[in-house]
Amino acid sequence: MEKEYPLQKKMAVDKMEEECGVFGIYDSKGSNDVATLSYLGLHALQHRGQESAGICVNHRGKFNIYKGMGLVNNVFNEDILADLKGEIAIGHVRYSTTGSSLLANAQPLLTNSIKGDLAIAHNGNLINSSEIRLNLENQGSIFHSTLDTEVIAHLVARSFKDNIVEALMHSLQQVKGAYSLIAMAGDNLIAARDPHGFRPLSLGKLGDAYVVASETCAFDIIGAKLIRDIKPGEMIVINKDGITSRFYSEEQPSRFCIFEFIYFARPDSVIGGQNVHLARKEMGRQLAREMDVEADIVVPVPSSGISAAIGFAEESGIPYEKGILRNRYVGRTFIQPTQEIRDLKVRVKLNPIREIVEGKRVILIDDSIVRGTTSKQIIRMMREAGASEIHFAISSPPVIESCYYGLDTSRRQELIAAHNSVEEIANYIGADSLTYVSIEGLLNSIKAEGFDYCTACFTGDYPIGRGTDKYALEE
Ligand code: SF4
Repeated sequence: MEKEYPLQKKMAVDKMEEECGVFGIYDSKGSNDVATLSYLGLHALQHRGQESAGICVNHRGKFNIYKGMGLVNNVFNEDILADLKGEIAIGHVRYSTTGSSLLANAQPLLTNSIKGDLAIAHNGNLINSSEIRLNLENQGSIFHSTLDTEVIAHLVARSFKDNIVEALMHSLQQVKGAYSLIAMAGDNLIAARDPHGFRPLSLGKLGDAYVVASETCAFDIIGAKLIRDIKPGEMIVINKDGITSRFYSEEQPSRFCIFEFIYFARPDSVIGGQNVHLARKEMGRQLAREMDVEADIVVPVPSSGISAAIGFAEESGIPYEKGILRNRYVGRTFIQPTQEIRDLKVRVKLNPIREIVEGKRVILIDDSIVRGTTSKQIIRMMREAGASEIHFAISSPPVIESCYYGLDTSRRQELIAAHNSVEEIANYIGADSLTYVSIEGLLNSIKAEGFDYCTACFTGDYPIGRGTDKYALEE
């Protein structure tokens, strides 16, 4: 009999969700349409956030912003982009949990203080923003959103540094957390990564223009070339004099979020010289080396399991098959108020191909299990389509802890692996067997140069603590 997992919240996520993507462009000659290029860059970063999108342009020091709720395509059209003229632009896509899905929380955030206009687009999470916010409110600051970005903007306004770029650097020295940030102030485009480099941020070039983005796939879409990753603790400033690079913190151990390689980042992106698809393939190869099961076909859960399944099939010699079809036209606007409708959502999105799976012993590959409800639904559909055995193989270790560094992972009590053994999880989701890749195997699969990783959601070893924000204090 299947064990019922008791702590499933109706609105909890069943996939690790990225919270934001950022893009920026500096074109001193004004020869590019920076708003349209930002739009295209954000389009490539859409997987990092689907709830709101925004672009702020800077024309000779005059800022103009447009943002709205929904996908990049829905927020912008040709007329809106035509009104956004300038030489510098920054853009943002945001994912949020339901409670904070408001236009007030859409980015970029544009603020004005005695130091001048400042626009900020930010990806990540500050773990001391509640404390700072309380201090600032006690000193009279009034907040208009729940964004960490606004905390940074207030710190800039209150900084004793008169120069706005210096004030931004001073502010970043006061915050703690995981973030990649792009800002515009005066005639400067500014990009910075937190001292441990949790979130990705790359620098590229398009003709004479410089571009920065969360991922290199945003460069590919506009024909820009990758120069390098922004380094942990580095702030670069781009203006008419070119690029300057400074470090605003002492060197810290690198702690890049390993989930960027497992799931979040697009497979065509390159991080630290490592292509994401190839890293995932290697995770699949490693999984095959660690697993001892006889089967007829290897089937990915699309699209998150595809790269690992290809690697698994190559290593094991078991044929790769497209045994589940993904409906490409399902948007994220699908309303999911109850668990029943969430289950329906899986059926709308994924459909097993009976002619492929019927009578077959299937190795089913996915990148992770968060709550287990989606996996259970997929396995049930595979059995209904006639699969004789289903061996579920996961290209990451069990997720046992929440993320406090910018990812929406569900709370700890909702994570199935936090409270159940591998055998219990297999029983709950209805798989004949369940195998997770080892943490060592995972780490060995990624060859990014000079990187060390945050693996806290698998180990509970939080590199900078859990902080005092979000639900950290409740757990
Ligand atoms: Fe990434 Fe997990 Fe660390 Fe969060 S806790 S930054 S998801 S590795």
